[in-house]
Amino acid sequence: MMYDVIIIGMGPSSIFCAYELLEQNSKMKILLIEKGHKIENRICPISKTGKCQKCKPICSIIGGFSGAGAFSDGKLLSYHLSSYNNNTNDIYIGGKDDSYIKEYYSIDEIKNIMKYTDDIYLKFGASKNISGINNRKEIARMQIKASKNGLSLIDVPVRHLGTEKSHELYKKLEDYLIQNIDLMFETEVTDLIIEDNTIKGVKTKSGDIKGKKVVLAVGVDGSIWLEGLCKKYNIKTRNGYMDIGIRYELKDEVMEKVNKLMYEGKFIGKLKPYFDKVRTYCQNPSGFVTPETYDNGCTLVNGHAYKEKKSKNTNLAILVSYKFDEPFNSPNEYGFNIAKKANLLSGGNAIVQRFGDLINGRKTTKYDLINNSVEPTMKSAFAGDLSYVLDYRTVVNLINFIKRMDKIIPGFKNDDNLMYGPEIKFYGNELVLDKNFQTSINNLYSIGTGGGLTIGLMMASASGVMMARKLVSENEK
Ligand SMILES: Cc1cc2nc3c(=O)[nH]c(=O)nc-3n(C[C@H](O)[C@H](O)[C@H](O)COP(=O)(O)OP(=O)(O)OC[C@H]3O[C@@H](n4cnc5c(N)ncnc54)[C@H](O)[C@@H]3O)c2cc1C
Repeated sequence: MMYDVIIIGMGPSSIFCAYELLEQNSKMKILLIEKGHKIENRICPISKTGKCQKCKPICSIIGGFSGAGAFSDGKLLSYHLSSYNNNTNDIYIGGKDDSYIKEYYSIDEIKNIMKYTDDIYLKFGASKNISGINNRKEIARMQIKASKNGLSLIDVPVRHLGTEKSHELYKKLEDYLIQNIDLMFETEVTDLIIEDNTIKGVKTKSGDIKGKKVVLAVGVDGSIWLEGLCKKYNIKTRNGYMDIGIRYELKDEVMEKVNKLMYEGKFIGKLKPYFDKVRTYCQNPSGFVTPETYDNGCTLVNGHAYKEKKSKNTNLAILVSYKFDEPFNSPNEYGFNIAKKANLLSGGNAIVQRFGDLINGRKTTKYDLINNSVEPTMKSAFAGDLSYVLDYRTVVNLINFIKRMDKIIPGFKNDDNLMYGPEIKFYGNELVLDKNFQTSINNLYSIGTGGGLTIGLMMASASGVMMARKLVSENEK
């Protein structure tokens, strides 16, 4: 069997690529391969065992049908619905202001594809409610307050699916794709087949599969595998960003205004003494902090929120962006070394520390947490000291940012607020892509997070739509 298109991974970028290939009546023979489970079989055992079981072949939080999207609470960042971002500086594409998408598409084209993508989410059951488009005056007031304190508040409306609704929505998409194309689950692509700098197919443990074109849609988890492939086959890369930081948990009442007005507030700043970019990311009102375990056994943290089940806390990531120059070329290795330090100190878990303890040079103990006014939602986290794990520069960046945020949101620097760490966003080295998202290997393409094209659900999904249209137009030539 020779496939016209093989897509590796079944995260949102892959799903939307396959969906759009079908919509375009492409008649191409399409295969999607995923190492994780079908969405209905993705179960995280932590709710029963209370401890991360380091599931193999993949953690159900980050892999399987719908990728890292399934257990995410599905915040679709809807830039196309904001009337305020009409110029290139304002549109904040999935957090990446150096993306090829921005290079190869005009703002209007991007917004049109986002609207198209958003409509597919609506068609498959996404909630019609959008946060952040009402209360314009109050949002503007908060933006001014942020600006006076040296931070920016990026204005992005959010369509919030909720973790349970995300599951239902992606299940419908899974059923639709199963009816129309070939899907292989629990099958890991172990290698690529490349001859004369041209892709010929992929290798799996159960045999080789031939394909005329192969799309890498391997996400954060696959970016580690991809980094190795790039070295092995000399696939061209450029140094990408790395985001290193923590998951911050504080009482809902402290975050009440931002939660109500915007659901997710995206604050960004470059503060003294380093002027590194520090930002809030993935805010979850009444949410839960969760472990995130990678293929190599490293446990980090993330967060999500359910539509029905609620905690009394809001969590959000606070991330510092770094970009290192040559000869550095192993961002994943760098990130995992930080994660390994945390896991070594905590018996394989992530670490939690009170903000007050971090600034007072004190380790948090499990007894401190019993009386803490902010009750930790991630029970498996080990009470400890993050200053043994994160480097000085990151700790200083985080403390300064949190103190500055307190001027905009009083209570943001309360001693009882909790820092879980590390939270690291692995983007690997970014692949060098041409305007068709083709890598330096002929007919090998890359979309979504894995090769560094996008960040976040909406842009991963939109990159799938873009990819499909490019494949169809190449096929018609
Ligand atoms: C807990 C959590 C909450 C999040 N919340 C949000 C949110 O609210 N809003 C938002 O915008 N973003 C959120 N994100 C990020 C978002 O989920 C990702 O940006 C998005 O899923 C990226 O899509 P993708 O298609 O690029 O890759 P992924 O979704 O990561 O999918 C890649 C897939 O490829 C598979 N794969 C990898 N390597 C191989 C291989 N060798 N062979 C076969 N299969 C392979 C993996 O198993 C995985 O299923 C969250 C992420 C997490 C983990």
